[in-house]
Amino acid sequence: MLKLNNIEVTYLNVIRVLHGVSLTVEDGAIIALLGANGAGKSTTLKAISGLLHVEEGEVTDGSIEWNGVRIDNKNAEQIGKLGIIQALEGRHIFEHLTTEENLMVGAHNRSDRHNIKNDLEMVYDYFPRLKELRKNTAGYLSGGEQQRVALARALIVNPYVMLLDEPLSNLDAKLREQMRFEIKELQKKTKVTIIYVTHDQAEAMAMSDEIIVMNKGEIQQIGRPEEIYENPANKFIANFIGLTNFIPCKISEDRKFLIPKESKDNRIEYTVSERYQEEVTLCIRLEDITLQLFGKGDLNGEVLRATFLGSLVDYLIKVGDINVRVQSKDRKFFTGDEVSLVFDRERILLY
Ligand code: ATP
Repeated sequence: MLKLNNIEVTYLNVIRVLHGVSLTVEDGAIIALLGANGAGKSTTLKAISGLLHVEEGEVTDGSIEWNGVRIDNKNAEQIGKLGIIQALEGRHIFEHLTTEENLMVGAHNRSDRHNIKNDLEMVYDYFPRLKELRKNTAGYLSGGEQQRVALARALIVNPYVMLLDEPLSNLDAKLREQMRFEIKELQKKTKVTIIYVTHDQAEAMAMSDEIIVMNKGEIQQIGRPEEIYENPANKFIANFIGLTNFIPCKISEDRKFLIPKESKDNRIEYTVSERYQEEVTLCIRLEDITLQLFGKGDLNGEVLRATFLGSLVDYLIKVGDINVRVQSKDRKFFTGDEVSLVFDRERILLY
C-alpha cells in the first residue's frame, strides 16, 4: 500500500506547489490524478518516484510510505528497486534501437538478470503485436506501438507500482480511446498498481477505479468515477468534470421554488432543504435537461442555437436573461423555436 501523508513539495527552496496532499493507493488499483494545467499532478508523481530532485524539488513536509516504510528520503534508483517505477512516454524510447533492444534495456534494470528471455516472453504475451515487431527499429513504429514499447519496457521489471504521466497524450483521438481499454485490461491481467496523470476527464472516467481531482496543489475530491460525476464536492469539480449549467437562484420564502436571479419570471418547483441560505447556485448537466413543447416544462425559452453533434444535438436556450445549454438526442427543435425545459429532479445539485 502506498500512502502520502499531508505532503508539501517545494521547488528551488521557495516555490511551494503541493499543499498537504494525502492519499492512499491500495495494491492492484488503477488511480487517476486528474486536474488542469499546473494542478500539481506531475509533481505528485515525481514525489512518489523520487524524481523531484532532478528539478530541484523536494518534499518539505509530510511523508510518503510504501508498505509502512518511508520512501520520501530515497532517490529514484532506490525507489525503483522497491518496484515503484515511472514509465517513459512512447516518444522517449530509444528510436535507433529495435523493439526488443528497447525491452532489453528495461530488463537489465531488474535486480535478477537471469531470466531475461522469460521476461521478454511475459511482455510479448501481454503485447503480441510487439513480438511481431521485435526486430523493427523503434523510431519507425507508429505512435501507438511506441507507447506499447514504453509500457512493456516498464512492465518487464515486474513492478508493483507503475507511474504514468499523460501516457496517451501524443496519440490521436481514436487510438487514445482504444489504448484506454488496453491499459485497463493490462492492469487487470498483471495486477500492477497504476497511478497515472491526465487532464482528460473521459480518460480518467474510463480507466480508473478511483479519481483524485487536483487543483492548485490541493486535492479537491477522491472518489469512484460515478461518485465524482454524480456528486461533485464543489462547483469547481462540477465545472471541471462533464458539461454543466450554473444558474444562480433565489430560494422562495416557502422553500418550494428556485427562482433564477436573472430570469425572475421563471421558477422551478423544487423543495429546498433548510441547510441552504437564501441563495444557491443550481448546477445541472447538459444531458439532464429535456426539451418539451412550450409551456409544458419548468422554464420557457427560445432556441438560440442548435448544433448537430452526430449522436446528440447541442442546444443553447435563452430563458429570460440567462442562457441554458442542453444536449439531447431529440432533433426536432430548431433556432427560433419556443420550447420548455424540464430539469431531472434527481440530478439537480445545489451549492
Ligand atoms: P501539467 O498538466 O501542465 O503538467 P500538472 O498538474 O502536472 O500540470 P505540475 O507540473 O506538477 O502540474 O506543476 C505544478 C506547479 O509547479 C506549476 O505551477 C508549475 O509551474 C510548478 N513547477 C513544476 N515544475 C517546476 C520546477 N521544476 N520548478 C519550479 N516550479 C515548477
